[in-house]
Amino acid sequence: MKKKAVIIGAGYGGLALANLLAKAGYEVAVYEKNPSAGGRIQVVKQNGFTFDLGPSWYLMPEIFEQYYQLFGRSAKTELDLVRFSPGYKVWSEGYDPLIIQGDVDKDMTTFEAIEPGAGKKLQRYVTRSSQIYEVAVKHALYNNFTRVSDVLQWPLLRQLPTMLPLVWRTLDAHVSRWFRDLRLKQLLEYHMVFLGSSPFQAPAVYSLMSHLDFRSGVYYPRRGMLELVNSMERLGRSLGVAYHYNSPVKQIVLDGHQATGIELMNGERIAADLVISAADIHHTETKLLPPAAQSYPEKYWQKRQPGPGALLVALGIKGKLPNLQHHNLYFVNKWRENFAAIYETHTVPEHASLYVCNPTKTDPSLAPPEHENLFVLLPLPAGVTLTPQQEAACVKKIVKILTEMSGESDLPKRIVSRLIYSPEQFSEQFNAWQYNAFGGESHLLSQSVMFRTRNRSKKVSNLYYVGAGTLPGIGLPMCLISAQLTYKRITGNRRRGPLTKEDI
Ligand SMILES: Cc1cc2nc3c(=O)[nH]c(=O)nc-3n(C[C@H](O)[C@H](O)[C@H](O)COP(=O)(O)OP(=O)(O)OC[C@H]3O[C@@H](n4cnc5c(N)ncnc54)[C@H](O)[C@@H]3O)c2cc1C
Repeated sequence: MKKKAVIIGAGYGGLALANLLAKAGYEVAVYEKNPSAGGRIQVVKQNGFTFDLGPSWYLMPEIFEQYYQLFGRSAKTELDLVRFSPGYKVWSEGYDPLIIQGDVDKDMTTFEAIEPGAGKKLQRYVTRSSQIYEVAVKHALYNNFTRVSDVLQWPLLRQLPTMLPLVWRTLDAHVSRWFRDLRLKQLLEYHMVFLGSSPFQAPAVYSLMSHLDFRSGVYYPRRGMLELVNSMERLGRSLGVAYHYNSPVKQIVLDGHQATGIELMNGERIAADLVISAADIHHTETKLLPPAAQSYPEKYWQKRQPGPGALLVALGIKGKLPNLQHHNLYFVNKWRENFAAIYETHTVPEHASLYVCNPTKTDPSLAPPEHENLFVLLPLPAGVTLTPQQEAACVKKIVKILTEMSGESDLPKRIVSRLIYSPEQFSEQFNAWQYNAFGGESHLLSQSVMFRTRNRSKKVSNLYYVGAGTLPGIGLPMCLISAQLTYKRITGNRRRGPLTKEDI
């Protein structure tokens, strides 16, 4: 008889693991509290606009490709990917905007124009980033680090002399050894926002992100990010995965140190041989398990740093915005103060950098004809809610910055649709820990790779975790790797590296 696995949560991590287990012959049922799949990948329709309120950067394309190849498919064809050229546009407060092509050979000219000598340095910096990226993908990301030999492996040890300084040094300290101009530093550090961390706290190994910007490239699925979810669910259905929506889980049912299934909020019990939670681990541990079965009780979380919260603002704009690209970034001069407010003083930043997505540049169907669709992400400290006055002030500031960026002085009058997603909605909708927007802990050194919250309960023998909250971390490609790591834990596969077709 087939073994039965239940998965709590139909976010990207849960969907990815469901497919692997189904392919391996498990009977898989996914229980999701919300009406549809995707979790933090979500779309809201309003007044003829389709607002994507979740991820929009499709990075690390080879990770998606490797996952799809396990099922004999290709991400390129499943998702109809387009590579952005240019990659994105950046406004550093007080300066003319910069266009980043996503190709180091072209972008070195931009660097050189700002700081003499920086062009050649960028090439060397990115070459180093690519080397770190390769080591990370080959030896760290697909590694569960369950044995001493997983840490003390020769390919990693060999890198120690060059890697150690990058482990102890912060990303900002590393970048500052190469470049002086704040605008250049911002371009090499901003990614830390998307990893839920600060360049002034995170280790310099995350300089690997510049490989993605300047070599690997920025992609987009032509039918929108929700296509990632639809494609996963289609694949799951073809493998026999059963999805149950509007089905919030109340508790994990235990018999001693064994999970025997789950109980839904409506009282229904579902028996299972294996329980996997793809919900935020803080929620799973502190709300779905009794204290005696918690490997990570509340006091554990008090010592951990969540990723940031966020205020999301989606705007429908009448007329076109020719000055914007699909991806746009606005960086404040008080760069350090902005990160300090979010991660150190936990206050609403006075000077806030923004990410602005204008997806109608790629897909005009996301707005009525002759309209544009804007999505703005303002990172905030975790656990902080905004008063109505603070929220209104933030929105006012955002509209002012958008007016500057777009060069359209009448932009405020052209707003025909407005949707505001407050930080606490992440908890209401997804049971997010401390309203964290991206799904997990910050990528501090103490919360990265082998130090990240583990993907298996230490107290309940057949309970596992998957998604951005566990190894290897935040973001969609990481969720695909997380699914493979958890699959390996479940099946006792201790081999390092990505799964192969033979493993499933
Ligand atoms: C605004 C924004 C922008 C982002 N930008 C990017 C980007 O550009 N690129 C990128 O790669 N990543 C980006 N991310 C991060 C990425 O979206 C997340 O890391 C990833 O989607 C997390 O997936 P997950 O499966 O771990 O968690 P989730 O998506 O949160 O899935 C967990 C699921 O569990 C469900 N659940 C919780 N509790 C229960 C319960 N008791 N019972 C049943 N179900 C439950 C939730 O409803 C949810 O559907 C962004 C995120 C946000 C919010």
